[in-house]
Amino acid sequence: MPLIECFDVGGTSIRGAIIENENILVKKTIPSVSGNFSALISVIQQLSHEIRGLAKKETVDGTIIGLPGPIRGNVLLNSGPLGITSSVSLGPLLQAFPNLVKIENDLKLAVHAEFFRGQGNGLDSFYLLAISTGMGTGLVWNKKIVSGTMGEFGHVVLDAKPAAIPCVLPHRGCWFAYSSGKGIEMQSSHSSKDVFLLAKNGDEKSKKIIAAARAANAHGIGNMLNVFAVQKIIIMGSLGLSQFEEIIPTEQEIQPFTLHPIPPIVPSLLGDDVGLWGAYYFGVEAKKE
Ligand SMILES: [Zn+2]
Repeated sequence: MPLIECFDVGGTSIRGAIIENENILVKKTIPSVSGNFSALISVIQQLSHEIRGLAKKETVDGTIIGLPGPIRGNVLLNSGPLGITSSVSLGPLLQAFPNLVKIENDLKLAVHAEFFRGQGNGLDSFYLLAISTGMGTGLVWNKKIVSGTMGEFGHVVLDAKPAAIPCVLPHRGCWFAYSSGKGIEMQSSHSSKDVFLLAKNGDEKSKKIIAAARAANAHGIGNMLNVFAVQKIIIMGSLGLSQFEEIIPTEQEIQPFTLHPIPPIVPSLLGDDVGLWGAYYFGVEAKKE
């Protein structure tokens, strides 16, 4: 039975676990390291030493590490949450672990968790839509997890007028600019959390920003369904989960934007362990190759 060492590396914390045969033997969370990749590697190595010791497992069948950023081959292109602005080689991190070791984008791992254990279990197709500081999507189609460079629906432009609101990338009016945490902050002088609080207290500008975010979500989800008519859409990410009722549109709101049926739109139920479970199932699949 596979014994997988799993790491979920985020901007605030690093979660590590030893999972064997779908049982978490040991789980530990430590503070993350920002802006220094070699320091981050030694912290992950230290955590590995610690959890292997606690689980009394000196060797494992594989180590899977989830990172918050786009990965091409053995290069992390950038990572906002980790404070990494230019590409870094993942070679030294791979070399730190002698056995089977794979590094994958955290959202790609989360799709594995939903497919094998979560809301997408048993389905032929679903989208995972993450709404937090940024936006990301994963896809299962014909019972296959779609891999590779895909899913940047957040930067699909919804409003092509020159006066549309700006993105962090050199274009305007994309879904991300309206609905991501970063996009909401760029439209306000407050944090996205405060924008929701202000709107609750009747602040007109904040109410308008949130209404626009919700409308963009209807438009964006409609576009996603036009591309793949999936059986379910699973929402994750801090903003998507904490403000689900406020920003996730109803069937009636999405209807005008798609010619396909609108499937159930549900929150992820895997909580903080989604990244660890994703790493585990990714590792089990990697062992089969
Ligand atoms: Zn954009």
